[in-house]
Amino acid sequence: MSEVLELDCVVVGGGVVGLAVARELAIAGREVVLLEAEPITGSITSSRNSEVIHAGLYYPTGSLKAELCVAGRHRLYGYCDERHIPHRRCGKLVVASNEAEVAYLEKLLKQAKANGVDDCRLIDATELARLEPRIRGFAALVSPSTGIIDSHRLMEAYIVDIEAHGGAIVLNSPVLGGELLSDAIRLSVGGRDPVEIEARLVVNAAGLGAWAISGSLSGLDRKAMPERHYAKGCYFSLSGRAPAGRLIYPVPEPGGLGVHLTLDLAGQARFGPDVEWVETIDYDVDPRRADKFYAAIRRYWPDLADGALQPAYSGMRPKVVGPEGGGGGDFVIQGPEATGHPAYAALYGIESPGLTASMAIAERVGRLVGA
Ligand SMILES: Cc1cc2nc3c(=O)[nH]c(=O)nc-3n(C[C@H](O)[C@H](O)[C@H](O)COP(=O)(O)OP(=O)(O)OC[C@H]3O[C@@H](n4cnc5c(N)ncnc54)[C@H](O)[C@@H]3O)c2cc1C
Repeated sequence: MSEVLELDCVVVGGGVVGLAVARELAIAGREVVLLEAEPITGSITSSRNSEVIHAGLYYPTGSLKAELCVAGRHRLYGYCDERHIPHRRCGKLVVASNEAEVAYLEKLLKQAKANGVDDCRLIDATELARLEPRIRGFAALVSPSTGIIDSHRLMEAYIVDIEAHGGAIVLNSPVLGGELLSDAIRLSVGGRDPVEIEARLVVNAAGLGAWAISGSLSGLDRKAMPERHYAKGCYFSLSGRAPAGRLIYPVPEPGGLGVHLTLDLAGQARFGPDVEWVETIDYDVDPRRADKFYAAIRRYWPDLADGALQPAYSGMRPKVVGPEGGGGGDFVIQGPEATGHPAYAALYGIESPGLTASMAIAERVGRLVGA
């Protein structure tokens, strides 16, 4: 039998959330090894999103999404300033395209305030035309504290902190399965140099892979695992100049925030993500989906020219509630008490706003595991 490597903490998954968790634990003085299946960190959902720093408007008050988005946003802006991570507090407009949607904006303003987002305001069509002359609407909600970020530079900064506090990141190391021992977990790790690890704490931050890892741990109570659903979101990029300097959102659709205009830090515009409930993971963008994009975008930007959109990329939302349940659902962050094992913590359904909330999610995990 091969030798077993004994470790203190293992974080599984090197996306933005796993890196934030490993950083938090390393700063707290724990010995941390992060295992990532892929040859690089951050190449799955953390590379396939809108890179928006969300303010925290939409989520039900009291939900983890609301709490951790607002707390995470404050921490993220502070960290970006401190570490010179490229970002821009460009602001966003949620646009009502008809009178019925204005009532939604009023509700959203109340929701935002209840969540502790107190800088939003409603504007009428005239002010909207003054702020963003190419965007049309009956009214809009202005969110000044929404922004955009270079998520890869953020992840690089997390890695610098992990390594500065003695943590290690091991790539090409898929966790294949494991076994719960009385107060530790034995993991089988594949890759070129397969190894057996015994860890006093395992944090499963494997994103879309979180369910498979929990499912492969013999002795784990499966009842603690939430449902698993996938909602794919496609993006189309715009050739030519962006029609606005702020992010432009329609009112949300079930499962997502609606086909919105986001900008990258170079000012290039892209639209998306839409919502498609799927059973399997693939990242192809079907060019035929463009028809629906043109229709959705022209509700707030009527001058969008035919042929201006090109298929760009897609991402997959890990969801704990499916379309029958309304497609919402909160983050599920389980410490040892909730997983039912003293050495196991697991995160499920870390979809948007997981990037914004990453530092607050990590802080919560740290508290749950007593770091
Ligand atoms: C379309 C879309 C748009 C979004 N837009 C935004 C946004 O604008 N703002 C925002 O705040 N959030 C946004 N999000 C959410 C955000 O992208 C995610 O919450 C975040 O990236 C999740 O990070 P993660 O580390 O949990 O997952 P991931 O980035 O998926 O990382 C998980 C890692 O685990 C690894 N892994 C999986 N299985 C194993 C295994 N067995 N062994 C070892 N490693 C394994 C994977 O290779 C991967 O690197 C969006 C999400 C989507 C899908």
